[in-house]
Amino acid sequence: MRPVAVEAMTALLTDGLGNPSGAHRLARRANQVIDDAREQMADAMGAEPGEIVFTGGGTEADNLAVLGALEAVPGVPVCSAIEHHAVIEPIEHLGGRVVAVGHDGQLNLDALAEALDDDVRVVSVMLANNETGILQPLDAIADLIRTNAPNALLHTDAVQAFSWIDLASAAARADLISVSAHKFGGPQGVGALVVRSGADLAPLVRGGGQERGRRSGTQNVPGIAAMAAAATEMVANRPTETVRVAALRDRLADGLRAAVPGVVESGVPEPTAPNGQLDRANKAERSNKTANMCHVCIEDIESEALLFLLEKEDVLASAAASCSSGAMEPSHVLAAMGYDRQLAFGSLRLSLGYPSTDADVDAALAFIPPAVERLRQAAGTNPLVSSTVAR
Ligand code: PLP
Repeated sequence: MRPVAVEAMTALLTDGLGNPSGAHRLARRANQVIDDAREQMADAMGAEPGEIVFTGGGTEADNLAVLGALEAVPGVPVCSAIEHHAVIEPIEHLGGRVVAVGHDGQLNLDALAEALDDDVRVVSVMLANNETGILQPLDAIADLIRTNAPNALLHTDAVQAFSWIDLASAAARADLISVSAHKFGGPQGVGALVVRSGADLAPLVRGGGQERGRRSGTQNVPGIAAMAAAATEMVANRPTETVRVAALRDRLADGLRAAVPGVVESGVPEPTAPNGQLDRANKAERSNKTANMCHVCIEDIESEALLFLLEKEDVLASAAASCSSGAMEPSHVLAAMGYDRQLAFGSLRLSLGYPSTDADVDAALAFIPPAVERLRQAAGTNPLVSSTVAR
């Protein structure tokens, strides 16, 4: 957590704090903390304070957006095939429409146009994917919804994007926007959903009517204050941090591509020389990814084994979505992007953040190539002689 978030939280944990719905002095104080946090989150997310609904994290915000929209006005939900489980599972559970993406991880806009009609009530497309960092063209998606599904709300899961992308412009046309505090230096178990005024949304949790009736239950006041402190600092530092972290990420990704044969970086076209040949000396183009994300698939290894070797060296990475790490199925995101199953088992996600340093990148570059080599030798595979895996 960011120190400002820890400070905001601990001050409230150790001071007297009432129930924000109560009437006495300590209750009014708690209520004031929430009002202030609501203003801060609204500023950070490009929304009005009355549009912010505090939730118990990103999963709850996503479920509230999708299921709350359908509860208010029944209809068909639509989402992309690479959504986080928090979106795709409720939508598949309800028999909604799941739209394909291309090998570049971008939503297929023709397929989206086909999936849209007057029955569609909510369309959920994430701003940035949590496994690859690939960004989606929300404006083009909003244009299609306006013409093909005029009764639909646009929800975007901005949980991964918020630290790197200004939601005031990138998500300006979304009716519903989810974020989660632990992705930007706040605590776990706290999040927010922007519900634009005029968007019809029913609550999932009914009770005392907190959050203007949209999410009952006594709010997590210290968590909300900490989230707002983290968001305010993150947004203030974002312009410089994005440039700094993108440079670290580029050094890491370029270094891996140079040192490890058989590395395929998701959403990044293979750099080619003027004669059309692969030219690894050319700079890779990563402008369509969040600044922090280095995601590669490594041929002829299983990344679960690599993670084990790396952890011994204190390089902590993940194979796919951390939520599904440990499962033996390759990620649904890479499957949707058309990756060969075997290559998808070599998926390695190295995500950087505001605390990342040059020394972290040096360590990752020092340990990953020999660890890959060791695994390949143990398995008797060598990508330079084995046939290239279909991608
Ligand atoms: N959406 C995305 C894109 C995520 O990456 C995550 C968490 O990793 C979530 C939703 C779920 O958020 P939370 O962990 O706060 O429930």
